[in-house]
Amino acid sequence: MPTDIKCLSRGELETQFKNWNEPVYRVTQLLEWLYSRRVTSWDAMTNLPKGLREKLADSFSLQTPELVRKQGAHDASQKFLWRLRDHALIESVLIPANPALYGDASDRHTLCISTQVGCAYGCKFCASGLDGWKRHLTPDEIVEQVLSVERLSPQSTVHSLESKDRTNARLRTVDSRLVDNIVVMGMGEPLANYDNLLKALRILNAPWGGGIGARKITISTSGLAPQIRRLATEPEQFRLAISLHGATDEVRNKIMPVNRKYPLKELVAACEDYQGQKGRMLTFEYILIAGVNDSAEQARPLAALAKRLFAKVNLIPYNQVEGLPWERPEEKVCKTFLAILQKQKVPATLRREKGGDIDAACGQLRLKTERELASN
Ligand code: SAH
Ligand code: SF4
Repeated sequence: MPTDIKCLSRGELETQFKNWNEPVYRVTQLLEWLYSRRVTSWDAMTNLPKGLREKLADSFSLQTPELVRKQGAHDASQKFLWRLRDHALIESVLIPANPALYGDASDRHTLCISTQVGCAYGCKFCASGLDGWKRHLTPDEIVEQVLSVERLSPQSTVHSLESKDRTNARLRTVDSRLVDNIVVMGMGEPLANYDNLLKALRILNAPWGGGIGARKITISTSGLAPQIRRLATEPEQFRLAISLHGATDEVRNKIMPVNRKYPLKELVAACEDYQGQKGRMLTFEYILIAGVNDSAEQARPLAALAKRLFAKVNLIPYNQVEGLPWERPEEKVCKTFLAILQKQKVPATLRREKGGDIDAACGQLRLKTERELASN
């Protein structure tokens, strides 16, 4: 199978076009078709000469995932289940910045994207890891989640690029993007697929690609310390979220096997390194699970860690996964936990459920669909 065209950076395309003796402005035209107009066939690229389109089609694939299921939730989150060319299933979740429930429908959206099929890290509470790891996503499969969601949305009208004033036409196109925030919190451990992740995020970030600011892209990790240090050396200011879920090794070891490889001491040192390079860009994600990590004995060391790393804490009441024994604590317990952090002057939020009724927590829709398919 040839490489997909959406795995290539602008520089790589320019080298390829030079080898073909094609002028460089053709690369700009190609990129507009791919990332502004989001076309899905070579034939649609009508301002490229037929010969060039044929060369492209012979050398590269131009694949898009197939939509298998789309579910909406009461709070206006939408979940997309995609089938890839090898029939693997992945998910993306579109979350409006201002849920329509609270008033005006929002035109700003965050997309939660996946980076692997399944996950090898086997956190005990998570649906993504339940059936193990299948494979890494390629850069185009990561990028396409954004483009495909935008293609399906009537809100992301693509303006004509035929205008004489091309600069303005391009600006208007980027303005019309539906997705303006990305969280890499879908299925898979993004830092275990480091090279493909970075390639994809650079395309989504580039002005010739997705045009989404690096500070509007958050990478979530269960705590791969060496890769966090590597990310600290990259030039982009991506935000980093650490899935902490426990403030002591005892609790983390119980629910996250990755902690045996990179215990808290090592994880915190890597976070300090990231912090040193990037400034205050850290968030701790902390799922509250009844009787596991929701006590005051965990809230206090969590507050200490957050203060040490200048991290913000996002508390997320556990989203029940079929077949797993864990439960979310009562609201009163969640609020008490939040109050302990706030009393210590730690910036913290208790997330209102988004998409809970559409199996929005990572990997749940895929798991359900695979099980339904298996029982047919
Ligand atoms: N592997 C990465 C990114 C994907 S998981 C990571 O672990 O950070 C994205 C987030 O969803 C993580 O914080 C994860 O812990 C959380 N999550 C997984 N299952 C969940 C559930 N059942 N309820 C609430 N959050 C869950
Ligand atoms: Fe993998 Fe993240 Fe789920 Fe853990 S929480 S199993 S690392 S996807």
